[in-house]
Amino acid sequence: MQATPLQALTDNYIWTMDGADDQLLVVDPGEAGPVIDAAERHGRAPAAILLTHHHHDHIGGVPALLERWPNLPVWAPRDERIPFATHRVGDGDTVQTGAWRFEVITVPGHTDSHIAFHGHGVLFSGDTLFSLGCGRLFEGSPAQMLQSLDRLAGLPPQTLVCCGHEYTRSNASFALAVEPGNADLRKRSEEVERMRAQHRPTLPSTLASELACNPFLRIDAPQVRASLAGRVTPDQRDDRVALFAALRAWKDGFAG
Ligand code: ZN
Ligand code: FE
Repeated sequence: MQATPLQALTDNYIWTMDGADDQLLVVDPGEAGPVIDAAERHGRAPAAILLTHHHHDHIGGVPALLERWPNLPVWAPRDERIPFATHRVGDGDTVQTGAWRFEVITVPGHTDSHIAFHGHGVLFSGDTLFSLGCGRLFEGSPAQMLQSLDRLAGLPPQTLVCCGHEYTRSNASFALAVEPGNADLRKRSEEVERMRAQHRPTLPSTLASELACNPFLRIDAPQVRASLAGRVTPDQRDDRVALFAALRAWKDGFAG
């Protein structure tokens, strides 16, 4: 079962995954058009929708998809800002639908109720873990986001990371500012340049690659700590949460 991204809106990805009987799993449909096009092109019908968080660019297409396929199950976090959910799931729950099976991991930080789905060798990470970056902290604290990322970092390294946005190129320039001496990151950054020059998605990435290159998963790496040393007080230099908060704040103000 392969995960395939559909481009949507400005820089969103709607993820799809094939199942049995020409069925299609749809993750975070920010708009309906790309899903309907893909379904028609490949003679498939959406059989279930998974939602990671309530932001409009991840759920905006659901009403139109439900109009066209009225009985679609919609799996979502426990959050009333997602009104059309048919199944509410939280940490440790299992999504069992069609031929698919995913474990739910709650990952607060970008939003309070953000969840991720792990199964079939794939992680649908929404706006929590990006390639070479992580989501902005709209509702959660740095401590929460760090804990969420720590949990995702513990998944098998070969896991394919399928995130909600094509932000990899700008994330790479920030990551290189943090860790200019990281050879794996340099290689990944060059690969990303090539892929974007050809208008190809830089995703999925692998968790192994993120562990090697993504500064937000590398708060314990000596070069990351050294780059953050001037952004925390001397007594915070071994404080992972303070270091993570400083890294996130640096990225928020980073012009690229
Ligand atoms: Zn979002
Ligand atoms: Fe988003």
